[in-house]
Amino acid sequence: MPNIIINLKKIQHNAETLRALLQKKNLSIIGVTKVVLGNPVIAKVLTQAGIEYLGDSRIKNIIKMKRNKINAKFVLIRVPSASEIPLVVQYADFSVNSELEIIKMLSTEAIKQKKIHKIIIMLDMGDLREGIYPSNIDKYIYQIKKLKGIKLSGIGTNLKCFGGIIPTNLNMKKFSNIADELEKKFGLKFKFVSGGNSSNMNWLMSCKDTGKINNLRIGEALFLGHETINFQPIPDLHRDSFKFTAEIIELKQRSLRPQGIVVSNAFGEKIHKKSLFIIKKKKRFRKQALLNFGRQDINLDGLRPISNIKILGASSDYLIIDVKDNEFKIGEVLNFNLNYEALLRAMTSPYVSKKFID
Ligand SMILES: *Cc1c(COP(=O)(O)O)cnc(C)c1O
Repeated sequence: MPNIIINLKKIQHNAETLRALLQKKNLSIIGVTKVVLGNPVIAKVLTQAGIEYLGDSRIKNIIKMKRNKINAKFVLIRVPSASEIPLVVQYADFSVNSELEIIKMLSTEAIKQKKIHKIIIMLDMGDLREGIYPSNIDKYIYQIKKLKGIKLSGIGTNLKCFGGIIPTNLNMKKFSNIADELEKKFGLKFKFVSGGNSSNMNWLMSCKDTGKINNLRIGEALFLGHETINFQPIPDLHRDSFKFTAEIIELKQRSLRPQGIVVSNAFGEKIHKKSLFIIKKKKRFRKQALLNFGRQDINLDGLRPISNIKILGASSDYLIIDVKDNEFKIGEVLNFNLNYEALLRAMTSPYVSKKFID
């Protein structure tokens, strides 16, 4: 079975470092656990590093963390579905929202459960994913203020997710000004003015005045140690908290080109006979290995081999590599680093075993 080796010490170090970094700028942090599916062992490490708020996009992950007695406040960071309202009110301390219809359902359910459900209103500052346009926000707040069982705890925005828009001094200042105006106009004090995600790290480090922005929701930087605009390392963070390992299950000399009539691979992707492998003159064979995982467990372009091999492709269940000059054996374990999507896929695959080390 392939493994994902999870180094808890490194994750804890990253969490402590980022929490302190944000605190220096007077920002709180929501540790975003969706990439690790709300794994309780990892969530616990984040709380031990002093992170008070955990955010996840899936209510199921929040329920898992709550049931495992993770001592944190939970923020649902995807807007709730109508079908999950009772669970959201029961398990999430906060949810992000952008639809009045959903907020009304949350209100009705909160009254029923004798609870106050806290919401963060998302604003679209240009990335075109979730959120209300800033010009409409007043209308929403008038309506929300009338609802029982609902407390408006803040506003949030999310960039670099759909439209690829990056946080800048300009759009962050605009967002901060909106928070300021709303607090004054409606006599509110926002617990969260949540400026964004790991793509805000460069803005945060270079910015002298973060204005009203008092929070970021951070996942990728926490787990992989980089910002997400240029994917540059953040000083003093570990970039190798996760390692993917898999076994060689076949090792053979193979022809450089497929033999016979070529159409497409198992996924219907066109194969061009000549372009499949780089053909070195004089070389007639290459040494190929199969590894015990495939597209069901990972996205190919997110895999970075640690040894000097070349990934040729993958079907559902096999990774196909050129072993180059390595002297591998059957059963030998190869190591890979993962990008965010590959980490998400590997964590989600039931066929990848999760191993923790300290
Ligand atoms: C995933 C997500 C985050 C965290 O993003 P990272 O790039 O992993 O830091 C923050 N906010 C929302 C709404 C998200 O969906």
